[in-house]
Amino acid sequence: MAVPIIEQIIPASNANRPGGNYTKSYITIHETGNRAAGAGAKNHANWLSGGANGEIGYHYTVDDHEIYHHIPDKEKAWHAGDGGSGTGNLRSIGIELCVNADGDFEQTKKNAAWLVAKLMKDNSISIENVVQHNHWSGKNCPQTIRETGAWEAFLALCRDELDGSNTAPSGDTYTVQAGDCLSAIGEKLGIDWRDIAAVNGITEPYTIYAGQILQLSGGQTNPVPKPEPQPAGSTYTVVSGDSLSKIGAKLGIDWQEIAALNRICDPYIIYAGQVLTLPGDTPREIQVGDRVRITCDTYSTGQRIPSWVKDATHVVSQIGDGKLLLGADGGICSWVPAAGVLLA
Ligand SMILES: [Zn+2]
Repeated sequence: MAVPIIEQIIPASNANRPGGNYTKSYITIHETGNRAAGAGAKNHANWLSGGANGEIGYHYTVDDHEIYHHIPDKEKAWHAGDGGSGTGNLRSIGIELCVNADGDFEQTKKNAAWLVAKLMKDNSISIENVVQHNHWSGKNCPQTIRETGAWEAFLALCRDELDGSNTAPSGDTYTVQAGDCLSAIGEKLGIDWRDIAAVNGITEPYTIYAGQILQLSGGQTNPVPKPEPQPAGSTYTVVSGDSLSKIGAKLGIDWQEIAALNRICDPYIIYAGQVLTLPGDTPREIQVGDRVRITCDTYSTGQRIPSWVKDATHVVSQIGDGKLLLGADGGICSWVPAAGVLLA
């Protein structure tokens, strides 16, 4: 569940905004220790913006209904108590949980877990590096969580938030639209399509589906949903050794038209068993059992076809070399040139 984050960044001139630019690899959990009614995130934001207590500062305050952001994540802050070059101060994002008497601390923990999960993803921080203030300086903080034995439960909340967010990814993801293919997506987003394929575990033949969610950078990948069944009718099933240009030549269709219709882009990869939709008025290949009508005037033997036979429809009972054996409903069978037959 998303919690509102209100940006109230401490003025850069304040002593509690020491600045700098540090890759963050830890998240440090604190409690404010302020049990007074009304001592929520907003009051702490105002206190920090107003200079607070000299140099003391940290990145976020969380209460039971909102979150205030005080210091940009990359900057250092004096919250961990491990000194001017301490990893806690320089490399961890400090989060304070409010313990005000009129707040719901269980909800505050849930909101903090949501923020932790978000920051873990934003900064590629693992759950092992979500630590207590106590980890850096030995201080009894976060006090309530420590004294109620609730730390492991808090980490479990963080994991839950992380799992939940993975099933509905946002941010660095792309949802495949109808008509997309990897190379077009790559071009659209300015990313090498091979990187997208690699991150999402997509290998040859690089099949993607509308609605599929692609990760655009490292992280969780998504299971590939089953393809929609192809519509029956004008289709061609790719056989081993086929290429689009070969198929086009075989069927007398511009292969680029087939590519466009099937959303196949450069590098034009197809695979055996793939069912291609053919341009609208292209008849599909005739199969045994199909009902057909005759458009030519002579049988394969050269004998003239009577008009009553041409007026009827027939069932294909066998397929020969360039000819079809058609069974009349009365049971009489004749070979007819394949080129002289259309699906009824
Ligand atoms: Zn603390």
